[in-house]
Amino acid sequence: MAHANLRPNSPALPTEARALNRSVILQHLFRRGPVSRADLARMTGLTRVTVSAVVEQLISEGLVVELGQATRRKAGKPPILVGLSEDTWEIAAVDLANDGSLTGGILSLSGEVLAHVSEPHRLAKGDDGVAELGDFCSRVVAQADRKILGLGISSPGIITPEGFIEQAPNRSWYNVPLAEILTEKLHLPVLVANDANTAALAEYTFGSVSDDGLFCLVIADGVGAGLVLSGGLLHGAYNAAGEIGHVTAVDERDTGSLIGAPLPCACGRTGCLETILSENGLRMATAGLSAAEAAAKLDAFGKRLGSILAPIVASLNTGDLVISGPHALLDGPLLEATERTIRARTLPRTHANLRVRLSTLGTDASLKGAAVLVLSGRLGIA
Ligand SMILES: [Zn+2]
Repeated sequence: MAHANLRPNSPALPTEARALNRSVILQHLFRRGPVSRADLARMTGLTRVTVSAVVEQLISEGLVVELGQATRRKAGKPPILVGLSEDTWEIAAVDLANDGSLTGGILSLSGEVLAHVSEPHRLAKGDDGVAELGDFCSRVVAQADRKILGLGISSPGIITPEGFIEQAPNRSWYNVPLAEILTEKLHLPVLVANDANTAALAEYTFGSVSDDGLFCLVIADGVGAGLVLSGGLLHGAYNAAGEIGHVTAVDERDTGSLIGAPLPCACGRTGCLETILSENGLRMATAGLSAAEAAAKLDAFGKRLGSILAPIVASLNTGDLVISGPHALLDGPLLEATERTIRARTLPRTHANLRVRLSTLGTDASLKGAAVLVLSGRLGIA
């Protein structure tokens, strides 16, 4: 599988060149699969000596393995291929997007889910919930057959790149250094990111998007977006990039229309995008309607979503717009109206090559995204 290239957090100082060479080589092996050392040198622009030294080090750490000889292309001894090793390390991942259950898994370095752990449990609020989460993470890690490279956690909330939760109101977590607390408890590197950001990482790495910028809209209990621009996740000045679920989308003028009167939102205001577009909001809006009535309503919601996304897509000029959520509700009138409205409201230059589609990663997307956090944070690859 070809993987898009997520920019590592590139160290620029000469003293950090070694770490950069290491992540460049790992990234090539992740994206391209097994190659010879000579091809690695040619592809990365590094010298053969450097490649050999880094590869030897990675082999000794169990991250890379020799995979036998390539098929003979011309006279002479065929070169030995090296590739990512699946034999030594695994990744643990936890998804907190669902309020009513805890989901975790063990993944291979290439992102394959090897084991699932799911418990129907609602976390307690505040510190007790953090302690319960720690115990759940221990049970997930216990499923691993190999050494754990790190644990990635996908959580709702406003979260710094260091895994410090500034706020996750649904869990009553305010200023919780979650990554630090769990790293100490589990004796493992723990990385934490917003669930829309991990969805975007999963889509970028495993969803065959281009390298032209990705806007990933996630529709679940809430609504949020993750953005990958110029090969890196966009965090924003205050770690809240992509928080569009609480943009006002409905006002009094909609009363009596298919959109309906503005409803109260969990944030304390009314008419937020989340009130009509969350999974629950969509279900409530279409409950009891005939197929034709539901289609008309979803079409109206799609037009509204398109009118909200059009200026964002025009501003960022992203190549891919991916919507992740319940296909039964999103596929059809809602997606079509969203795309039609964006195209109607933007210049051809903006939308001519824009690709609008639903996510195809399925239920494991959040776990895969949490795993990409670990690959990116620990190895500089994605
Ligand atoms: Zn709101």
